[in-house]
Amino acid sequence: MQFIDLQAQYQHLKTKIDQRIATVLNHGHYIMGPEVQELEQALADYVGVKHVVTCANGTDALSLALMVLGIKAGDAVFCPTFTFFATAEVISFAHATPIFVDSNAETFNICPRDLEKQIQQVIQEGKLKPKAIIAVDLFGLPANYPEIEAIAKKYNLKLIEDAAQGFGGSITDGQGQIKKAGSFGDIATTSFFPAKPLGCYGDGGAVFTNNDDYADLLRSYRVHGKGSDKYDNVRIGMNSRLDTIQAAILLEKLAEFPQELINRNQAAKQYDNEWQVYLKRHKYLQGMKVPGHNIPC
Ligand SMILES: *Cc1c(COP(=O)(O)O)cnc(C)c1O
Repeated sequence: MQFIDLQAQYQHLKTKIDQRIATVLNHGHYIMGPEVQELEQALADYVGVKHVVTCANGTDALSLALMVLGIKAGDAVFCPTFTFFATAEVISFAHATPIFVDSNAETFNICPRDLEKQIQQVIQEGKLKPKAIIAVDLFGLPANYPEIEAIAKKYNLKLIEDAAQGFGGSITDGQGQIKKAGSFGDIATTSFFPAKPLGCYGDGGAVFTNNDDYADLLRSYRVHGKGSDKYDNVRIGMNSRLDTIQAAILLEKLAEFPQELINRNQAAKQYDNEWQVYLKRHKYLQGMKVPGHNIPC
């Protein structure tokens, strides 16, 4: 069964997307063209953060976040066991050590209780320096940030939100405010791989932050550590830009995204209703629960 029908979605938006692509082909600014800036502003408005820095993919977005936070050899970075490979890969790529944390059995998000246990263990062992946490949003559900943020604060750790599987989702934070995926922690990241909640037609990613200094560093690191000019290279960075054509496609897909979420939730509700009917019919399954929010792990 095909859960994400990219062809049907393209047919629905074809006229608008084709028009946007044609505009890029005509103006010719294929790298860092005006659509890239337009998209960064639209994403910042949508998520509710000050800065969005787009990049080449979701893995680079995580690597850029770790570079900005100065993660290096000898540092411990905590991440969940249940995630895509990239979450842990980037920690090793930065020469730091990933420390794996158990997941909540109901939501599969990182378990705050085991997180604290793992942090205390690293401190006790005294070999690595606890530096940061990468929490991962899953199946549209952001991780338990009210609890994770409190732990990050208690142990003076930086917090990265990997929102690649949760973009468009939201939870109510500790102050009772609704916050969107991409707005948690010190830095958040996402991927625009075609099958992600918001995908383009190639590779793409973005980094989100409210911190002005982090945003300046991110813009430098993504273009070979550039200074005031692209040939004035002041630090070692990478080449991780989002193509203008992908930005153009994402602008049209982002405009449709709120309606798409309504449609997806309607479909999910339908599945849920059928599931309840099924459970009633099969009495032996009646003890089973549908995953809920914030059930202790
Ligand atoms: C897809 C994904 C990534 C990596 O994104 P790419 O764009 O494929 O590099 C990172 N983290 C999670 C949780 C993902 O699902």
